[in-house]
Amino acid sequence: MQRIYLKQGRERPVLNGHPWIFSGAVERIEGDPQSVGTADVFDGKSNWLARGYYNPKSQIRVRLLTWREEAIDGDFFARRLRHAIDLRDRHLASGTTAYRIVNGEGDFLPGLTVDRYADFLVCQFYTAGMARFRDEIFDALSSSASIAGIFERTEGRVGDEEGLDASVGTIRGAAPPEAIEIMENGHKFLVDIRRGQKTGFFLDQRDNRAFLAAMSRGRAVLNCFAYTGGFSVFAFAGGAKEVVTFDSSKPALELAERNLEINGFADAPGEILKGDAFAYLKEIDRNFDAIVLDPPSLAHKKNDVDAAAGGYKFLNLHALKHLNPGGLLLTFSCSQHVSSDLFQKIVFGAAVDAQRRVGIVKRLGSPIDHPVSLHHPEGEYLKGLALRVLD
Ligand code: SAH
Repeated sequence: MQRIYLKQGRERPVLNGHPWIFSGAVERIEGDPQSVGTADVFDGKSNWLARGYYNPKSQIRVRLLTWREEAIDGDFFARRLRHAIDLRDRHLASGTTAYRIVNGEGDFLPGLTVDRYADFLVCQFYTAGMARFRDEIFDALSSSASIAGIFERTEGRVGDEEGLDASVGTIRGAAPPEAIEIMENGHKFLVDIRRGQKTGFFLDQRDNRAFLAAMSRGRAVLNCFAYTGGFSVFAFAGGAKEVVTFDSSKPALELAERNLEINGFADAPGEILKGDAFAYLKEIDRNFDAIVLDPPSLAHKKNDVDAAAGGYKFLNLHALKHLNPGGLLLTFSCSQHVSSDLFQKIVFGAAVDAQRRVGIVKRLGSPIDHPVSLHHPEGEYLKGLALRVLD
């Protein structure tokens, strides 16, 4: 176990429960400074503060797991998991069989995402430190939930920054089928957990899809950045008279078509269109009564924020221009680096340029299975606005 000594006066965030320690706060390290592993953290006067894991490659040198002197072992992960699963068991309705079980820092398990899709769990590590506990975590998961199998999806950009090897495949139990059928608030969806985006489904939009259903009666809806058609199914379920489902991904749209089908909307009025949503929104020569704008993260780094702001403004400007009077815009940003304040300002700029008067009907965010640590507000990434245009 490494011992990390902080610079004088740099202990406040740790004492306040923030789970990250950046390289600049570290005075010295006892133990092998080159290897990833469990670490104890001390203040400048050598008082013990917290325990977590250390990664010399990451700018976030330490992510904290506990502020108590407890062992980081199988029992520790079982306790953390029980705490996380209890929240979901209490609060998720029976018509929903896909939800997030572990939301990283928000469940005090930094570096780990676990999603449940019916009988299968999908695990994703996003730090090398957490991946060292993979066996303890898989054991704890196997015994805490009755499941058919665990599939791992550790991959991508984050892995490179962390020195974390990709690892994709069946870890425990049965191999998942090509498409798993899940239920969300009573509607069926097919999810490809092997190749789909994120871990297969955008679980964070559940409440907002239900909200769209409640607002859709008799409306012509454009679902932009539709992925596998989540918002489209809920729009039809809520009585939309027409839904256009738009995305740039062919595999996503193939699943969207099947999702409409299995919910009985195969012949419902509308179209499924593939293309670039930026170009489409600018060029369409018709209006809608409701538009959903759920683009992928346009800012992956702090430096991207200005360019991202331009992208969000463009999308919202052209969406607002294509709404009928009284029309509804559900607009989202899932960029962690774009605050809800900034997002609202961007959308305001778009409304001014579109020459529309716009009201905020509701502020939107992620559902109960995506908790955010009060000590780590950075964990809140999804923000949205439900807007209504006047005339
Ligand atoms: N609203 C969806 C999730 C959207 S995720 C849901 O509820 O499930 C963002 C989507 O944007 C992805 O499906 C991705 O394929 C798509 N996308 C990315 N760039 C795009 C572009 N330029 N034009 C259209 N779609 C795009």
